[in-house]
Order: sequence, then structure tokens, then C-alpha cells
Amino acid sequence: MKVLKFGGTSVGSPERMKKLLDIIDPSQKQIVVLSAVSGTTNGLVEIGQAYLKSDKPQAAQLIAALKAKYEDFIKELYLKTEFLVLGKEVIDYHFDLLSSLANDFFTGIEDKIILAQGEQLSTTLYHVYLQELGVKSVLLPALDFMKIDEDGEPDIDYIATHLKPLLQKHGDNKLFITQGYICRNAFGEVDNLRRGGSDYSASLIGAAIGAEEVQIWTDIDGMHNNDPRIVQGTKPIRQLSFDEAAELAYFGAKILHPQSVFPAQKYNIPVRLLNTMEPNAPGTLIDSNNDRGEIKSVAAKDDITAINIHSSRMLLAHGFLRQVFEVFERYKTAIDMITTSEVAVSLTIDDTTYLDEIRAELNAFGTVEIDVNQTIICVVGDFRAEKHGYAAKVLEAIKHIPVRMISYGGSSYNISILVKTGDKVEALRSLHSRLF
Ligand code: ASP
Ligand code: MG
Repeated sequence: MKVLKFGGTSVGSPERMKKLLDIIDPSQKQIVVLSAVSGTTNGLVEIGQAYLKSDKPQAAQLIAALKAKYEDFIKELYLKTEFLVLGKEVIDYHFDLLSSLANDFFTGIEDKIILAQGEQLSTTLYHVYLQELGVKSVLLPALDFMKIDEDGEPDIDYIATHLKPLLQKHGDNKLFITQGYICRNAFGEVDNLRRGGSDYSASLIGAAIGAEEVQIWTDIDGMHNNDPRIVQGTKPIRQLSFDEAAELAYFGAKILHPQSVFPAQKYNIPVRLLNTMEPNAPGTLIDSNNDRGEIKSVAAKDDITAINIHSSRMLLAHGFLRQVFEVFERYKTAIDMITTSEVAVSLTIDDTTYLDEIRAELNAFGTVEIDVNQTIICVVGDFRAEKHGYAAKVLEAIKHIPVRMISYGGSSYNISILVKTGDKVEALRSLHSRLF
């Protein structure tokens, strides 16, 4: 069985939704995971914010505007009155629910319920569309099987034990439709896998059922070997190992939700990134093959802050790094890159919410210097075979650019370099022309 996930733009208009059947072959066993229609989740976020501010008129206005879009949407999606009526009932049900929250005490729980309406709308409307065409399909409610635990981590065993019986119950059925993004949490409340989480849903479903393959259908022809907005002549990467994809995921988040790689890797399910606009293009395959000694991709992440702590106390001391890391842990701030010398440590963060507090605490250890507007340039490939040469090649390509930090050896699949954001474009272009 395959799992096919289509993103918001792939279901973003009635025409696009109808075109899914160019890709979905109803005679094959598959689970189709849909995102919300593009723009919907953002709209729902705004509705939640209006409720949170107790601005009910604003919420009502936003709900009415979004509802009007759906009413137009179904006019083009369905042909027969009978199905238009059905579609209208679906819309009314979800929008009445949104409106009814005005009467509730509004908390995070209600907010999550709001966010869950987008995927429920897209899947139900699509299911009705398939009915109109006479294409047999079963709608699987993700809230019946998709689950996260107390730590917000997906519970694959739970997903498997709840999803498999649903599939068995409809053993003779081929095409299943379900919602991406939405799930239940440890308390049974409606929750989600965070923005862009539909990819993650698809990968979790693939892992839970031991799928033959997970396909992520977007509007780009796979992951490129450099940023196509900055560098000319980039190419889609044909194949990435799970390890390489994991390194890149943080950078390529726009095309693949960063966490999606891990369930697929753990259960060895190949993931294909494919383009709805060019269904026959090969896209990018992510699987367990590690092509030895090939540099695959260059990627960049902006808005990075570098923090340097210089302290003579670090010399020959143990426990120093632990104390430094504990400061970041207290403020729930993730560290991305780290490099050390005998008397100093440099690290980077991208979430600066608690930067002032972190700086104040770090001052107790030594001299603290902070550089904002930094960019991590990440070179990904298989650096195991030839340990010599690659780092030199990378550094040679950027020898004219001031480098703030270099991280090499953390894994065998990545070299990360920190530069000023102003030097990013030149760094990406120069690496591209020297490495590919
Ligand atoms: N609809 C959700 C979002 O916009 C999930 C997704 O599209 O993957 O973030
Ligand atoms: Mg996405």
C-alpha cells in the first residue's frame, strides 16, 4: 500500500482538486492524505486569535469571509445539485461549529479545534467529489488513529493498532482518504502536528502500516541541490539517504516538514518528493541507500544568532559545558551549531525569545558576545569514504568570505559554516560553482 500526501496548493482550487485524479489511481491500494485548502489554516489561526482577544465581531467577520470562499469552491467542484447540497451541508457543519465557539470559554483546547477544521473540510469535500464521480473511497477520520503522547511525540504503536483495524474493516476498499496535520493528544483532545504537519502525518501513517512508499506531492520538482531563488542552474536531487535528508530537513522545511524523515527512516519506508504540475518527473527519492562520497546539496538558514562565551574557567574544567547548556534548557531554546576551543565556546540559536535572559545568566560564566544576522550554510553529502579533501573543497570555495564558525564531524553527512547573512548569496553561489 502507498501513502500519497497532497499539500494545500494541490487542493487549493476546485480545478486543482479535480486534477488529483490524474495522479491518484483508484484501482491501487492507497491512503491519500490531504492538507487544508491553501490559505485556510492561516484563516483559522486568525479566527482563533480573534476569539482569544474576545473580539467576537472580528471572529464572525473572518468566519463569514472564509465560508464564502468555500461556498464558491463547491459551486465549481460539483456538477449535480444533489452533491452541491451535500457539500453545502459539510460547509455548514464546520462553519456552524466555528461560530458556536463564540459562546464558549475560549482556551487553547478550542483553538486547536478551530485549527482542525481545515483538513476536515478538504477531505470531506473531496470525498463527496469522488462520490459524485462514482469513485469508491473510504474517509478515515485521522482523529480516530493519529495520536501524540504527553511530550507531543507521535505514538506510532497507537497509530498502528488503531489504523490497521480501520483498514481491515474496509478490506475490499482500495482508496482511503484522511486528514493530515490533525491528531489527538495524550488527553484525548483535538491537537495537531504543528504547521506544515501533513507531511509528518503521511510519514507516520507510512511507518505505522509499513507502506511500500510515501509520496509527498507539492509544486516543486523535488529538493534542489541549492536555493533556486538565489543560485542559477540548481537541479533536483534525485536521491538522498535518510541521514542526508535528516540533515537537510531543517533547511528545506518549506518542501518537507523536518520531522517527517524520522519515522520513515526508522521503519525504512522510501519517501518520494514529487511535483503535481509535472507528475512524470522523477522528483527526489529519500531511502536507505547511501551513495558513497557524493556531495548532494547546499542549503542555508537565516536569522541565526551566534553566542560566544569566553571563560578562562573553561580551561581543563569539567562540567562547564553542562552549565552553559542548562541555561538554554531552562529557556527551552534549541542550540543548532556548536564549536569549542579550550577557553571559549560558540553556539547558535534561531529562537531569540529569551535572548536577554540567556545573556544575563551566561554573564556569570565569562565574557559573552552576541552576533545577530548570521546564516548557517550547510553542505550535505556522504563524507564517510574520503575523510580528507571535502572540508578543504568546501573551505576553498568560500575562502574569500569571512567565516564565523565551522562545524565538521558531528555527523558524516554534514559540514556547517556560519557566515554573515550579507555574505550568504556569494557563499551559496561560490559553493555551487565549485562543488557541482
Ligand atoms: N494545513 C496545515 C498548515 O497549513 C498543515 C499542512 O498543510 O501541512 O500548516
Ligand atoms: Mg507543506
